This record gives sequence, C-alpha cells and structure tokens, in this order.
Amino acid sequence: MSPRNNVLKSFRQRGSQNVFYREFAITYAHLPAGYIVGKLLSDKFERRIKSYPLYWFWGLLGSVAPDFDYLYLELFDTRTWDHHYYLTHFPMFWAILLFGSLLWLYSKPKSQSPVFAFMFTLNGFIHMILDSVPNPMYWLAPFSYRGFDVNLLLKKIAPWIVYDYPFWSYSIEALIIVLALNLFLKRGIADTETAKNLRARNSGSSQP
Ligand SMILES: [Zn+2]
Repeated sequence: MSPRNNVLKSFRQRGSQNVFYREFAITYAHLPAGYIVGKLLSDKFERRIKSYPLYWFWGLLGSVAPDFDYLYLELFDTRTWDHHYYLTHFPMFWAILLFGSLLWLYSKPKSQSPVFAFMFTLNGFIHMILDSVPNPMYWLAPFSYRGFDVNLLLKKIAPWIVYDYPFWSYSIEALIIVLALNLFLKRGIADTETAKNLRARNSGSSQP
C-alpha cells in the first residue's frame, strides 16, 4: 500500500469524535492571523503599496486559500473526509511558493505586485503552521506522509496539558482572534483621533 493510501486508511480508522473536533480547531483563526500579519508588515512595505485594498485582499486571501480544497473534498472526493493530504495543504508546496515570492520581492524593490505575492504565500505558509497545532500535517509530503502536529508533540513532552485541557488548541484560536480584534479596534480609535485632529486643524485655519 502506498504511503498516501496508508494515510487515508489511518484517517478512516481514526474517524472518531476526537479527530473530528480537532479538524475544526483553529479554523476561525486563519483570517484574524492574516490580519495580524498584514498589520505588522504594512509599515515595512509602505513605500511600495499603492493600493491598500489590494494589499489586504491578497494577504487575507492567502490566509484562507488552502482551505478552499475543502470544497473540492465535499463536492467531488468521496474517498476520505480529510483534506490535509491535498497539495494545497502540503507545507513544502507553500514553502516553495514563499521562497519564489521572496526572490521576486527582492529582485523588484519598487513594485507592489511582489508584495502582494509575498503576503499571499506568507499567510498560506502560516496557515500550514496553524493547521499543525491540532491536526497531523505532512511536512515532508509528497516524499513522506509522516504526520506532525503540536498535539502529538505535547503528548510526549507535556501530556498533562493534552489530558487536563483537551480543548487547549481552541485557546490558541481564541488568543489569535482577540489579538486581531484588539489591533482592529486600536486602528479604529487611531482613525477617529486623526479625523478629530484634522477637523480641529481645518476649522482652526478657516477662522479669520
Ligand atoms: Zn487548513
């Protein structure tokens, strides 16, 4: 049996509720994680970016793009219910794209398109890291289908976390969402302050 078929078989055998809840852990953190990355790097690319809507579009799209394969799984693939063995969930695939976008980024120091490509692939790669928190991810696929996940690692080095707090990965998800919300609300406050200052300055200068 091929390594990939072994993986499919093991997933069918492990088709328990335990795996099911882990499948959906972190799902809602991808977009907020993309937002955090976008906020952290927006200053760095300030001189290059001409369109911030496009900057956000490509960055946020990259953070969720790998999960579009779930649609393919639901609509066309009846062999398994796990989508992490598709090419779109191979960390090595995203690492190669990220490396390519980095080369483009440094070869075209003034253009904004490489920034969009970099943000897209960086967030896609971060998606792989986040998915590895609760689920086995195949970091060496397609060469090896040996799964790696933080949950498994914790079972070896700090098993009390996994057994006392089986939903610990949801805490990571919640933390990312709260951090993103915090950044988003701070941005709102900063915008309001800037608008107030501008209004005050304009009304001051219009007075005789
Ligand atoms: Zn995913």
